[in-house]
Amino acid sequence: MTKRITVAIDGPAGAGKSTLARRVAARLGFLYIDTGAMYRAVALWAGRAGVSWEDRGGLERLALEAELELTPEGRVLLNGEDVSAAIREPEMSQAASVVSAIPGVRRALVIKQQQMGAASSCVMEGRDIGTVVFPEAEVKIFLDASPEERARRRVSDLASRGIAAGFGEVFEEMKQRDERDSTRPDSPLRQAPDAIYIDSSGLDENQVEEALLRIVRERTSNGKEVQR
Ligand code: C5P
Repeated sequence: MTKRITVAIDGPAGAGKSTLARRVAARLGFLYIDTGAMYRAVALWAGRAGVSWEDRGGLERLALEAELELTPEGRVLLNGEDVSAAIREPEMSQAASVVSAIPGVRRALVIKQQQMGAASSCVMEGRDIGTVVFPEAEVKIFLDASPEERARRRVSDLASRGIAAGFGEVFEEMKQRDERDSTRPDSPLRQAPDAIYIDSSGLDENQVEEALLRIVRERTSNGKEVQR
């Protein structure tokens, strides 16, 4: 019998998870699943629908009802609408972090993530993939970088999308978000005991990708489905 492989990548904002996950998924022919995009989409919908951040029941309902689709091209569809650009607006980062602290919202989205990941081998990235969503993942990575490096990367990422943001402002925003993500009672950002820690501070994207591919190859039959 062949077996699917799950690669779980967790870590704080700006560590390079999305780039790494997308590249490694493409190299291995695995599905790429960006779970942060799902929290962002629920936050976007809440803002548009006028559901307040305090209305936990209302936010949970939106998370349950949201039809979320992550296309192989990397587009994010919310109830059939392409919201890929809208969810990347800077204010959606904080909004997603607030919404994601609500246990009912997490429950709803974790189930969707488990269903998406159950279908085929995947690289899934977020904050709780190795600890909660797929604790049995064959490969678990905790990707980190220094706070300064992460803020620098975020500034240049925003600039590449035509959004001007100062280093100090981005640094503070990330600090708050990481603090909220790490201290919430439900599924805080935490390294799974069996996750491999990678500090990407001094590494470029190719080096991080190669490091992860080496780990995947060691743990599996060259990233191919293995016999059980
Ligand atoms: O990864 P990204 O920055 O897009 O995630 C946005 C926010 O969504 C995070 O700051 C975090 O609060 C939340 N999130 C989460 N669990 C995940 C993925 C994202 O709580 N698995």
